[in-house]
Formats: sequence, C-alpha cells, structure tokens
Amino acid sequence: MKIQLPVQKNDYIDVTFVDLTHDGNGVAKVDGYPIFVPNTLPGEKAKVKVIKVNKGYGFGRLIELYEASPYRVEPDCPIYKECGGCQLQHLSYSGQLKAKRKQVQDVLQRIGKLEDVVVHPVLGMEDPWRYRNKAQVPVGEREGGLIVGFYQNRSHDIINMEACLIQQEKNDVVVQTVKEICDRYGVRAYNEQTHKGTLRHIMARYGMKTGEIMIVLITRTAELPNKKSIIEEIIAKLPDVKSIVQNINPKRTNVIFGDETKVLWGEEVIYDYIGNIKFAISARSFYQVNPEQTKVLYDQALKYANLTGEETVIDAYCGIGTISLFLTEKAKKVYGVEIVPEAIEDAKRNAELNGISNVEFAVGEAEKVIPKWYEDGIIADVLVVDPPRKGCDETLLQTIIDMKPKKVVYVSCNPATLARDLRVLEDGGYRTVEVQPVDMFPQTTHVEVIVKLVLKV
Ligand code: SAH
Repeated sequence: MKIQLPVQKNDYIDVTFVDLTHDGNGVAKVDGYPIFVPNTLPGEKAKVKVIKVNKGYGFGRLIELYEASPYRVEPDCPIYKECGGCQLQHLSYSGQLKAKRKQVQDVLQRIGKLEDVVVHPVLGMEDPWRYRNKAQVPVGEREGGLIVGFYQNRSHDIINMEACLIQQEKNDVVVQTVKEICDRYGVRAYNEQTHKGTLRHIMARYGMKTGEIMIVLITRTAELPNKKSIIEEIIAKLPDVKSIVQNINPKRTNVIFGDETKVLWGEEVIYDYIGNIKFAISARSFYQVNPEQTKVLYDQALKYANLTGEETVIDAYCGIGTISLFLTEKAKKVYGVEIVPEAIEDAKRNAELNGISNVEFAVGEAEKVIPKWYEDGIIADVLVVDPPRKGCDETLLQTIIDMKPKKVVYVSCNPATLARDLRVLEDGGYRTVEVQPVDMFPQTTHVEVIVKLVLKV
C-alpha cells in the first residue's frame, strides 16, 4: 500500500518553523510530517517549495519569507550561500549560542534520558570571527590564472575566494600572496579531470601566540617549477613565515595530503601555546583550529577534574596530548592513549619541549590499552575521554564502570553519541553533574560539550 504523504514534491506550501536541526536547517511540520529547509529559523513563517519527499521527512526550499525571526541577521560573508563552510551566519551570535544550548538539552533528554541535568549557557567568543588558525584551500584556474577558494556546496567546482571571515586575516594574506607568486612563476593548478597540473592545495598555519607562519604547498609532482624564485619571493613578502613545506600527492583522490613531505625552506615545525604549554606543529600534525576557545575548554576540563596533585589521570583519545599536558600541571601522573602513532610522537615531543616528565603516552586503541593498564594495576582517579564523533567504544565504557574512577570528564564533539554514552555510564553507577557547551566553531553548527560525571556513592 502506498502511504499518502501530507505534501508532494513541487508543492508550494505556507509553513511556520518550529525547530532547527543539528545541521542548521529549519524544521516545519505539516500534519506532523517534518520538512527541512535551509536558511530558515524557528518562529519564521514562509512559503516553501517541497523539493524532495521521503517516507518520514522531506526537504524544501525557501521561496518567500513572510515573517523573519528577531534573531535573523544579514550574513556578513558575500559567499555564505555558495560556500557551505558556515551554516549559521543568518542567525545572530546570541541566537547561535541559544540554539546550541537547546540542541544539547534536547538530545540529552531524548537519547540520554537525562531529564533534569544542568546544561549551562554556551561559553561563546567575544568576537566570533576570524578565529581559525589553519587555512587549507584548493587551487584552480580561471581564464588562465590561478584561483583559490572552496568547492561549491556539494560539487567540485572551485569558487574564487579572497577572504574567509572565520579565518585569521594573516592566513588570507598568506594564501593570496602565495597564489599570486605561484601564478606569476607559471605554476599550473592541478586539474582533477585530466589529472594534470601541479598545485593542488595551499595550506597556511598561524601560531596565534607566537605569530609564526607555516606554508604547505601540496603538489601532484615532486617537481615545482621555479621553486627557488618562488621561495625567495615568499620569504621577502611574508617575513613571519618560519617554514615552507611541500607535500606530494600524486594520487587521483579527494584526500588532500600525500605520503611524502619535505621542508623547502626554514624549520620543520612552527610553535604555538595553549595556556603555558608550548606545542610544536608540523605540516601533518593535528592541532586545534581555534586555540582561544581550546583554552576555555581545557580550563573547564581542569575545573571539572579538580586535581590536587595526588591523582592518577587517564586521558583516552589524547591526540597530540593537548589535554594530557594541560593536566600534568595539577596531577601526580597522567597516562595518554591515542590510535595514531604520529600523534603520539608529537605528544612525546611536546612533553619534552615543556620539560614535563609526569606523563606517559601509548599508541593503541583506548578500548584495548586501558583494560590492559587496569590489569597492570593502573587505576585512574580521574578519567578524561575526548572521542571522535562516533563516541566511546562500548568496551571502554565497561572498563570505566569496572575501574570506577571517582570522576569522569567527557569532552564531546557530537551531542548524540555523548547522550548515548552518558546513559551507559549512568546505568553503570555514574551521575552526570553538569554539562558545559563551549563554542569552538562560531557561525557553524558544530557543538563542543564538556561533562562532569562522578561515581555515585
Ligand atoms: N584530545 C585531543 C584529540 C581528540 S580528537 C585534543 O584535544 O587535541 C579524537 C582522537 O581520538 C583523534 O586523535 C583520533 O585519532 C583518536 N582515536 C580515534 N579512535 C581511537 C581509539 N579507538 N583509541 C584511541 N584513540 C582513538
């Protein structure tokens, strides 16, 4: 039997929006059937064209806005609609912070069945623009000249971009300058269709505290025409550049980086600080893209861990050891575990760089290494987890429940998997004390959350 849906494809309908999804679409309901529409906000009334219908939900396009939300603002960025890198520029910043808090509250109730858990107002940025320290832009050609920009929403056409409003101005200048120099020296852009040409991406990284800049040229071939002159001009025009690196990616692939990286000029790394901790960042290192808010997040982690200097701490999913190193200042001993070997090399190097000796790092899966540590008698007083989007592995959650650290600090970039995991920990003897969202990525729909759990007595 064919189910009769309340709307059909190509219908024009008048609706009122009642919610905002985690990916930034407004939600309207027609006889309970949800329709998702980009560039709309809760409370708004509009005419919408239905463009797709599935069994349980549909998609629409905004045709005419009858009544705008008081939180609606004109996006500052001229290429906001085509780009897709930001999803919430049409919502005022205070509106963004409210929406992110509500999203966390809703999902903790719906998935986590946590009825009256305290979710604090989101810690936002005073100036929610120009915060990213890393730019990574594809290179293309138009009328014979190089352009740098972004892939148009859901396509592989490169749109020219001169400025990105969530990017450090320095990085915009670096990218434009490098593009202009390469263009003048006849470097051709890589072409995905023909698999010819040289320059695929330009990456710029900026140490916010140190002012140091790294440039990475990602090329198809090892050969880069007029390499020497290009380097000379870059360092003459951009005196803060400390490192110029080439990464070679000969493959037909969407993956940006190839396996071979070589330093063309200067240092192999640049440095930056989060709080008092100094980090060495290489071309391939993972490093938080918003260090100002990272500091806010880690200060919160320290507060929730509430260390006295006597504690053993485990940092699961530790990456390059940022949280681990931050915690060493207040803990007796910190153990960090991470699956990517290069990240652990960075973590060890960073510990050494800061003269920190009360930390140990291990390569491996958190769900295998931590049970092993537990068997060996390493028992955490405080356990920190900062898993990828899919959340914690079940085995790890069970190990936490068995090990019974007095406190668990859960850092999450995905409220849905966080809610699922909190339910498991609650059923295993933990109480969710408080939840603090931190806005690491203003203008986008990303939400970062930090949670304090304690063992029930
Ligand atoms: N805490 C770090 C990084 C968190 S991102 C920071 O603040 O910088 C999550 C990390 O988990 C990534 O570095 C990823 O490589 C790692 N990871 C993914 N699956 C893992 C697993 N099963 N065991 C350990 N680490 C894992």
